[in-house]
Amino acid sequence: MQVFKFGGASIKNSNAIRQLADLLDNYRKEQLVLVISAMDKTTNELEEVVELYWRGDAGATEKLSKIKAWHFEIVDELFDSSTDLKALVNDLFVEAEWILEDEIHDTYDYLYDQIVAIGELVSTRIIEAMLQQNSFACQWLDARSLIRTDENHREGHVDWEATRNQIDSGIRPILNQKYWVVTQGFIAGTSENVTTTLGREGSDFSAAIIGACLDAFQVTAWKNVPGIMTADPAIDPEAEKLERLSYREAIEMTYYGAKVIHPRTIQPLLEKSIPLTVRSFDDLSDPGSLISGLDEEEYPPIKVRLEDQVLLQISTLDFSFISEVHLSDLFSEFASLGVKVELMRNSAVSISVCVQHSSAKLDLLLSSLKDKFKTEVIKPVELLTIRHYDNDTLVKLTTGRSVLLQELNPQTAQVVMMQLK
Ligand code: ASP
Ligand code: MG
Repeated sequence: MQVFKFGGASIKNSNAIRQLADLLDNYRKEQLVLVISAMDKTTNELEEVVELYWRGDAGATEKLSKIKAWHFEIVDELFDSSTDLKALVNDLFVEAEWILEDEIHDTYDYLYDQIVAIGELVSTRIIEAMLQQNSFACQWLDARSLIRTDENHREGHVDWEATRNQIDSGIRPILNQKYWVVTQGFIAGTSENVTTTLGREGSDFSAAIIGACLDAFQVTAWKNVPGIMTADPAIDPEAEKLERLSYREAIEMTYYGAKVIHPRTIQPLLEKSIPLTVRSFDDLSDPGSLISGLDEEEYPPIKVRLEDQVLLQISTLDFSFISEVHLSDLFSEFASLGVKVELMRNSAVSISVCVQHSSAKLDLLLSSLKDKFKTEVIKPVELLTIRHYDNDTLVKLTTGRSVLLQELNPQTAQVVMMQLK
């Protein structure tokens, strides 16, 4: 059996959904589990609903009705008669409507998961109906009873043993009866059946979890790009596709911020030596990029750019040397505030760290550090990472730029520069 994951772009409107049916037509004889994201930018829109509700803005309800109306339009475009499907979709939205009618009793992250999960629940119901209309034998499963996590909302930690059991007993019998399984990416559930999520773009991870638990022979992530690229094609005309890469390289790339796949996706696949293919749903003649257990190969320079970062230059108040105790104080602050450190370097009297910019967190961080440290804030900066850099590439990408910090090791160059715009 194998797992196919489809992201929001592959089901962004009714035409895309029809195109998906055509794509799947080539796989009628396969045992497939389909892991599907929310349609188009629905997750972002639902995030806005949560944000409005949290701020007590009545616009939340209006925003949610718009999202619902848009899904109904898609249903109307795809199906002649769709009363049952519309009732199902409606029920899913009603749960969120109830939350919005109520006063806030819960934490932001809990509410977020309850509301945002609707995107995937609805999209998979629509895909299920579309598949049935095209006489594919399939069954819809609720991923909240397949993938078990703890209660860490918005970034649930997987309980692997429970998950393996649930996936095995939930999915295998259906596949054995020659049905496909259609389920949601990104969402999961706790032992108390409370909805959780796995972090933005988490559907890749969901597909990997399911693939690993079922010993799939491969997992495919269908995307709107030809595969894993050496740079972001939107900003770099020299970006080219990598035909093959190792699990290790994929982990490194996502660690440095490459957005092609969710960072947690590779680990479960690596453990079971299950290959991951990333390929385009727009060009079926292109086999995409294959990530597997290669010996390390030669790679061209691979560039990852992170914008809107902040460089903090931290020194002790009395300019005494930075000691292990200082580092430990600093890093426990970072950890407790959830500030992600992308790069660090220390000298005798100061430590420089490049962190992701989020104004709220930055203010908290600065105020928590001010009793012990003096902190200079430089922003916005760009963090450029070049894996397998060569000198030409490095020079070309940094010439004329105001470079604040540079770290080179044999494989990876990282440069912090003032952001251009
Ligand atoms: N729909 C979720 C998101 O947009 C999960 C995913 O697409 O992978 O983040
Ligand atoms: Mg997505």
